Amino acid sequence: MSLDRRELLKSALAGTVAIGFPSLLRGQADKWTVVDGGGTNIIAFSSTDGLVLVDSGAPKSSDRIMAALGSNAKPRTLFNTHYHLDQTGNNELLAAAGAKIIAHEHTRQWMSTDYWVPEEDRFEKARPKAARPSETFQTTGTFKTATEQIDYGHLPLAHTDGDIYIFFKSSNVLAVGDVASPLRDPALDYFTGAWIGGRVDAMDVILKLSNEQTRIVPASGPVMTRAEFKTERDIMEEVRSRIWKRALQGDGPQDMVEAGVLKGLARTWKDPYKFLYDANKGMLAHHNKLDPSVI
Ligand SMILES: [Zn+2]
Repeated sequence: MSLDRRELLKSALAGTVAIGFPSLLRGQADKWTVVDGGGTNIIAFSSTDGLVLVDSGAPKSSDRIMAALGSNAKPRTLFNTHYHLDQTGNNELLAAAGAKIIAHEHTRQWMSTDYWVPEEDRFEKARPKAARPSETFQTTGTFKTATEQIDYGHLPLAHTDGDIYIFFKSSNVLAVGDVASPLRDPALDYFTGAWIGGRVDAMDVILKLSNEQTRIVPASGPVMTRAEFKTERDIMEEVRSRIWKRALQGDGPQDMVEAGVLKGLARTWKDPYKFLYDANKGMLAHHNKLDPSVI
C-alpha cells in the first residue's frame, strides 16, 4: 500500500472527510475515499474511466459534494444502497453529470411512489424520473473497472426491502448502507417488511463476504472493521431474542422499554421506544419465521 493510500485509509477510518478529491484523481487509479454527504457517507472510487460512487448524499448537500468531487470529476456509476433521501438526495445532479444509477428494483419502486413516513405522519412525494435508478437488479450483479472488481447484491429486509451491499473486491472495501449503524440507532422500515431477523441475516451475509482486513463502510459514522461489525451483529441477535421473548408474554414496546430490554448491551439507544416500536412491528409481521408453533 502506498503512503498516499495509507493516508486515505487513515482518513476514512477516522471518519474524516477533508480529502480534496481533485488530488485524489491525479493519484493512482484505485483510490477510494469517503465524502461527507450531509451527515451521510458517500464512497468515491476513482478509476481511469471515471468515478464509481456509493450513495449521493442528503438533500441540500450538493455544493459540498461537488466541491469534494472536484470540477473535473466524471461520475460514471452511482449505486444507491436504498431509497432513503439521505442516500438518494443528489441523484438528479449526478445523473445529469453522466452517472448511471444502479439500485435494487425495490429501491426504484419506493422512489416511484408517494410513501407514508410514520414517525412524521406525512407522505413523502415520489421522486422525479431523473432521480430514479436507471438500472436495477433483483439478486446480484458484478462489473469491472480497469482496476477494480465490483460485486453487489441484495440484503433482504435488513433496513428496507431494497438494501444492497457493494463490494469493491480488489480494494477489499465493502459498502453496506444502513445495514450497519455504529452511531445512530439502527432503523427498521417495518412498513417495507424490514425486521430485526432480516437485519441479522443480512449481517451474516456481510460476515461471509468479508475478512479481517475488509473495511466496512456504513451509511453514516466511521468505517468499521469486521470485528466491530460482528459486535453489532451479535447485539442485534441478542435484541431479537429478547424482544421476541417479551412479545410472547404480551409486552408491547413501552413494556419492553420499562422491562429494560435494551439494558446491559455494548451500545446505547437515543430513542429506545422508537427502535422497539419498529422492531416489534416488523417482528410481528414475520412471527411465523421465528416460531412456527405460534402461527
Ligand atoms: Zn436509511
